Amino acid sequence: MNTPLRNILVIGAGGVGAATAHKCAQNNDRLGDVWLASRTLDKCRSITDDIRARGNLADPGCRLEARQLDAKDIAATAALIREAEASIVLNVGSPHINMSVMQACLEAGAHYLDTAVHEGEGEMNMPPPWYARYDWTLRDRFAAAQLTAVLGIGFDPGAVNAFTAYVQKHMLDRIRTIDIMDVNGGDHGRYFATNFDPETNLREIMEDVVYWKNGDWVTVPCHSRSRVYDFPELGEFKLFSMGHDEIHSLALNIDAERIEFWMGFSERYIEVFNVLKNLGLLSPDPVAVEGQPVVPIKLVKALLPDPASLAEGYTGKVCIGCEIIGEKDGRERTVFIHSLKDHEACYADVGTQAISYTTGVPLVTAALLIAEGSWRAGTMVNVEELDPDPFLAEMPKQGMDWAVIDSWGQSPRTEIKL
Ligand code: NDP
Repeated sequence: MNTPLRNILVIGAGGVGAATAHKCAQNNDRLGDVWLASRTLDKCRSITDDIRARGNLADPGCRLEARQLDAKDIAATAALIREAEASIVLNVGSPHINMSVMQACLEAGAHYLDTAVHEGEGEMNMPPPWYARYDWTLRDRFAAAQLTAVLGIGFDPGAVNAFTAYVQKHMLDRIRTIDIMDVNGGDHGRYFATNFDPETNLREIMEDVVYWKNGDWVTVPCHSRSRVYDFPELGEFKLFSMGHDEIHSLALNIDAERIEFWMGFSERYIEVFNVLKNLGLLSPDPVAVEGQPVVPIKLVKALLPDPASLAEGYTGKVCIGCEIIGEKDGRERTVFIHSLKDHEACYADVGTQAISYTTGVPLVTAALLIAEGSWRAGTMVNVEELDPDPFLAEMPKQGMDWAVIDSWGQSPRTEIKL
């Protein structure tokens, strides 16, 4: 039996950081002290103030601390891990800081979790598999130190990887295709906004699409593959194939003919995106404006609403899930394993919209499993390498239900236009 671990350091104070810190606080009787650190101290303080104001501390006797930190400074991050006596670090900063936070964890002896693959600043179209370029290079060091690093444990990547492992373990003898689908049926009332960091969001949409087919990576231009899918409660949405983190580990860990990720976009979103792209406003390369260097994508980010500000008044639901088609006992079976979450319910619980919430809940669920022992792998893993059962038993207790639509025969819900 593993000894329970105590004390959490959360790094990053955006929407996901807020949802994560609230959920840690709601579980601090199991997780111990909660420290929140980010580049901007005020953002940390407003989250810790909100946690207290909402009465979200399960054990008011545990410490709740806010700190300023540049997580690219490995020594400073390791020092903070030691000061907090943190056993587990939850990295929900920008995807540029994974490598330095992981190195700090190795230095200070802490377990590590994140929600997105590491990206170099301004880097686009990384060669597949994306994790191999940076994150997986530290796997041997985590194994040697017997520390657990769980990569990509938000919703997608994250819970969807656990969904896939669950279907493989319990529902299918052979998997043919995995389609991960993410649709936001909500309304934030703004002309145009991104639900998380605009730089990350717009770049991932603009990149070439990479998916897995017949044992190899296939690359096609963005928005060149679409499908319509009929989601439970939300109805039909048009989805576009996109490159996404989870494909880059699932392809190596799960045997399937095709693995692909699809995101739903409104007509408005695609229209604005195309204008920004065609004008060069999504470029990470600086242009001279009256002698001053200006990075177009950073200008766009500065003009767009702060994703965290969308939470109040956001209505409607998100649905994220995997349609997995394969065979069981010689018969074709189609499984749609998914979660639905309401923006308003998330706001009432932790003061964020559902995109942040659905990322923070799986992350804190995994932290609980590491703290209490069942997911303490003692090496670096992607989520599908772990037992999905304890995770899918705990996640509903943390605020995210999940469900399965099970049909024998080809899915009636799908239409793929290739
Ligand atoms: P935000 O951009 O809103 O927040 C990122 C936070 O990280 C900010 O508070 C920022 O500080 C902080 N930060 C950035 N660089 C540093 C640094 N060097 N040192 C310390 N803090 C730093 O992002 P989100 O909250 O929307 O998303 C967080 C992460 O979650 C991202 O990696 C995103 O890709 C991922 N994500 C994953 C999902 C999933 O389902 N797997 C879904 C949604 C997001 P400052 O405020 O000063 O800029």
